[in-house]
Amino acid sequence: MTVVAVDIGGTWTRVADVARFPTDPDYDRELAMIVDAAASTNPTAAGVSFGGRVTSDGTVRVSLNLRGYEGRALGADLAAALGCPVRVAHDATCGLLGEAFAPGGALHGVERCGYLTLSTGVGAAVRLGSTVLTTEAGHQLVAGNDLPCACGQTGCLETLVGGRALAERLGRPLDTVDDPGFWQVYSERLAPGLVNLALTAGLSVIALGGAVALRGDDLWRPLWSEVARLSRYNTVEVRKAGLGGGAPLAGAAVLADGPAPLEVLH
Ligand SMILES: [Zn+2]
Repeated sequence: MTVVAVDIGGTWTRVADVARFPTDPDYDRELAMIVDAAASTNPTAAGVSFGGRVTSDGTVRVSLNLRGYEGRALGADLAAALGCPVRVAHDATCGLLGEAFAPGGALHGVERCGYLTLSTGVGAAVRLGSTVLTTEAGHQLVAGNDLPCACGQTGCLETLVGGRALAERLGRPLDTVDDPGFWQVYSERLAPGLVNLALTAGLSVIALGGAVALRGDDLWRPLWSEVARLSRYNTVEVRKAGLGGGAPLAGAAVLADGPAPLEVLH
């Protein structure tokens, strides 16, 4: 089997190791560029990581970053153009699949684990044995938070730790913020969300991926300290994604040709 993996993020698209280009907000142009790059690998199966919620047949349900893709049959359109089966999943779900099953992942052998992507938004997925499911843990409600979220709710965790929401309030991108006090407060906001996710699903390990999670000690030292302080009952360990920014692409390959039996709930 020749698998081609595709990662469609809010900003960048990658097609295996053959192409990388800015994601086009126009669905039809984006599809044409992906097909052009993917067809050159003569695939017999394709896996797609997508930055939004999809149905089990790969139709885009919700994409807060790519609103023009909503309702489009991404999986079926790609399958018709490439002439092979195509599976599509949320990027956090693919990140989890990569971390759990691809070489170098941080979640190998952990039966109950989670993956949270901290980038433009906050996505989350959970593995419970042979079932992997997409969750909306990034939109869990935080008491006392009255900030409106892009999803339509008020008070979501994403408004406090998501890259786009914070950059809009700070007036500059998160990767330019070096103030240790900022990352202390950030950790105090993120840690309860991680511990609550672990408590809800009985998780023992959560891996963090996405651009924000690739930061160094200014994030990780206070975050590990806060998680240890809060997580006293269902103790959870928080790890850096072993595959860094490559987790969703690696997971898309697992999705297309992964270890059976594995049920993916969207
Ligand atoms: Zn929200």
